[in-house]
Amino acid sequence: MTEKIIGRDVSVTYYGHAAFRLSGQGKTVLIDPWLANPVLTTPVSQVGPVDFILVTHGHADHVGNTVEIARETGAQVVAIHELSLLLAQQGVDKVVGMNKGGTFKAEGLEITMTQAVHSSTTEHEGRLVPAGDPGGFVVKFPNGFTAYHAGDTAVFKDMELIRELYRPELALLPIGSHYVMSPAEAALACRLLQPKFVIPMHYGTFPVLTGTPEELKEHLKDLPEVRVIALKPGETVE
Ligand code: ZN
Repeated sequence: MTEKIIGRDVSVTYYGHAAFRLSGQGKTVLIDPWLANPVLTTPVSQVGPVDFILVTHGHADHVGNTVEIARETGAQVVAIHELSLLLAQQGVDKVVGMNKGGTFKAEGLEITMTQAVHSSTTEHEGRLVPAGDPGGFVVKFPNGFTAYHAGDTAVFKDMELIRELYRPELALLPIGSHYVMSPAEAALACRLLQPKFVIPMHYGTFPVLTGTPEELKEHLKDLPEVRVIALKPGETVE
């Protein structure tokens, strides 16, 4: 695994697609853990202890291996209310249903659900059912380090509110286009959010997700204060 420096005592591992592990100060958070995706398969045993799993919305490429990981690690699963009820019915013991604008404080972390412009259904008992609204998450660690995972979304002007309220140093933004922002929209998102670091995600998994980190860098050439860190699936930054 390659390591690059973000600082602030939190490591970020990218498992491909929209799946991340944020770990620091004794706490580990997985977001949208599709660990068996077309670009990388990571055994749950390799992830280590997990305190929280955050699921941005119900689509299968984001719920991913949540049920299995929760069962094996005992992690609490955080999702929007409707999706949390469905995951509980699917066998997740510890679910936290919440909603946008609210913050769940636990074990020194502050987990806030944000807006996302997308859709959300999920597979349940062999059918596709509505799973509440899609969202994103802001995660604040005990030392103040704050990351924003946008989920699947279009760019939206209220990303300015996310900057104003939470000032995320790190933004995890989709760039693949077709189902989510392309690099041009993600570059505008960076201007609204003004993070120090952006890690692009949700590209290259399928042929239709055509956006690339190079295009994002090109669109951000005039904004050197935002550093684009393109992680390969399986890489970690400290
Ligand atoms: Zn989606």
